[in-house]
Amino acid sequence: MLRAGVVAVQGDVSEHADAIRRAADAHGEDVEVVEIRQSGRVPDCDVLLMPGGESTAISRLLAREGIDEEIVEHVERGKPVLATCAGLIVASRDAQDDRVDALSLVDVSVNRNAFGRQVDSFEAPLEVTGLDEPFPAVFIRAPAIDDVGEGVEVLAEWDGRPVAIRDGPVVGTSFHPELTTDSRLHDMVFFEGDVEVGARASD
Ligand code: GLN
Repeated sequence: MLRAGVVAVQGDVSEHADAIRRAADAHGEDVEVVEIRQSGRVPDCDVLLMPGGESTAISRLLAREGIDEEIVEHVERGKPVLATCAGLIVASRDAQDDRVDALSLVDVSVNRNAFGRQVDSFEAPLEVTGLDEPFPAVFIRAPAIDDVGEGVEVLAEWDGRPVAIRDGPVVGTSFHPELTTDSRLHDMVFFEGDVEVGARASD
């Protein structure tokens, strides 16, 4: 049984919960989804999902509830995280915005809303390292990844800019894999390849 925590202080929480349930189903794994709204729950989770939404609000609420430090500890233990859009902004080393207390889970700097405002949302077929076919990537007021540290692997680029990265146990995307029915990215992060089964607390 995999216990998956979805950071649920704000944003597209149910979409991530559905996506990891679909991915687990496809792998014949049982998953228990835990919505994280207060401290004390992250330490029991094997993997974490950090949804899209509004990064300034998410950041403020994580700090207020004391969840931020627990997420940092989760990553220090080498446990997987998928952070999408606003989730990636919060996970970054530098969000280039004082209202976001960046958690430095991944060694990148991000430029919020670099891909435009809400009206500029778009979907693009994206080549992603590790996936055979292009991924239907939904971009909504998406951040650009500006400055990629040495240990960071760029998994996808759009328009010459990185839009998906991996840094150790954390994968971050500028786009929203949870808003499609395609769960290959959730698969890749939580059920395949580099994921250390031994890192799962509840095994
Ligand atoms: N641009 C938004 C922010 O800064 C993120 C948008 C999204 O998650 N779709 O929080």
